[in-house]
Amino acid sequence: MSDEPLLSVTGLKKHYPVREGLLNRQVDVVRAVDGVDLDVARGETLGVVGESGCGKSTTARAITRLEAPTDGEVIFNGNGRGGATRNADGTHPNDVTRFSERALRRFRRGVQLVFQDPNASFDPRRTVGEAVAEPLRVQGMTDGERRRRIVADLLERVGLTEADADRYPHEFSGGQKQRIALARALVVNPDLVIADEPVSALDVSVKAEILSLLADLQRTFDLAVLLISHDMAVVREVCDRVAVMYLGEVVETGPVSTVFADPKHPYTEALLSSVPTPDPRATPAPIELDGPVPSPADPPSGCRFHTRCHRVIQPDGLDLDQDAWRGVVRLHERVESGEIDPARVRERAAAPDEAATATDEAARAQLRDAFDIPSQLSSTAAEETLRTGLDQILAGSFEAATATLAETFTSPCAAREPPSVTHGDAHESSCLLHVDDAR
Ligand code: ADP
Ligand code: MG
Repeated sequence: MSDEPLLSVTGLKKHYPVREGLLNRQVDVVRAVDGVDLDVARGETLGVVGESGCGKSTTARAITRLEAPTDGEVIFNGNGRGGATRNADGTHPNDVTRFSERALRRFRRGVQLVFQDPNASFDPRRTVGEAVAEPLRVQGMTDGERRRRIVADLLERVGLTEADADRYPHEFSGGQKQRIALARALVVNPDLVIADEPVSALDVSVKAEILSLLADLQRTFDLAVLLISHDMAVVREVCDRVAVMYLGEVVETGPVSTVFADPKHPYTEALLSSVPTPDPRATPAPIELDGPVPSPADPPSGCRFHTRCHRVIQPDGLDLDQDAWRGVVRLHERVESGEIDPARVRERAAAPDEAATATDEAARAQLRDAFDIPSQLSSTAAEETLRTGLDQILAGSFEAATATLAETFTSPCAAREPPSVTHGDAHESSCLLHVDDAR
């Protein structure tokens, strides 16, 4: 055994081209996964968590090469081959992204996938026994009796019976189907199971059963598990370590006990704030994030989370009320990405009095209101700049408005990509709050 992680992902990227028009020209690129680093040790469960659309499933597909990664290295030291040294040209002999078809087939025996929708995972015309035995057949096990014994044993281990092998998928509930999916994943004795939202489609009571089964199996078979979930409570239940993803990047990683007790990234903090705790009275109010996740085709500059962050840092010399400051940051971001329509603002501003057109004063107030900016900022200089910016927006001069707002209201978080900072044992985050010279 070596100390090398079983799976080591470095700088993994998956970009999707966006094409348009008759010539199918590439007009843009969706940065679904944009430089992900992850390690999974033998026998450990790593949770990958984040909101829908942050790139979790794409990460899993790129690791397993169901889709070709755009960039990065995925080193998998299957079956004790551990710690191989690099080739003379710097590449790694166990880099999955460079595997031949043959090496890829061998790799796929060592890594099994379990998906969210148990209904989509099974062919309705084949018995459960056939489905579970399928990977054995693919692997070339011709002895039908032996296959049957292995399948029966696994079905019992996941809480079903030998007789269930002759039944069809539709005869089982969603939770039972996930049990069958786990049996099928384990039948080839993998080193790593990647489970993508395995309990998200299940009822609450069944969820807990399947998670505890997963934990049992992980211990029994000494499996490494990469568990993908949008739900922090699921991660707390079964994972040893967690990696928190936001817009295609990992923003915090560490042991579950440490990260849950002392989250360093405001995004992690916000995710955790909505996890129910045993004592609801001791639970602070959930932290509300600003607006939806920005598009991965046009991620915000600097720290990608800064447009929604409750702790976004003010520039040196500015000391606004944090809520007012967040409003201005949001406004700045929307102007920059061209998402504000002055005609609509005027329409809205006019609506209450059914007046034909709104006054400039009403339109300005409407904009401030839309971004939760108070009618007067506490700093006179900042207030003056904001007014100039608002007028430029309403006049449709977005470039001028962006420049005006940028001069006074650029957060260090928008200007600088946060480096990874270590906080004690294997706990890392990428947030300027923990960088000494941030301002
Ligand atoms: P998650 O699993 O965290 O919900 P996904 O990995 O499914 O997120 O998606 C990440 C981002 O990539 C999303 O914005 C999604 O719309 C985009 N995406 C996923 N697959 C494709 C694809 N085949 N083509 C273009 N964009 C995609
Ligand atoms: Mg997904």
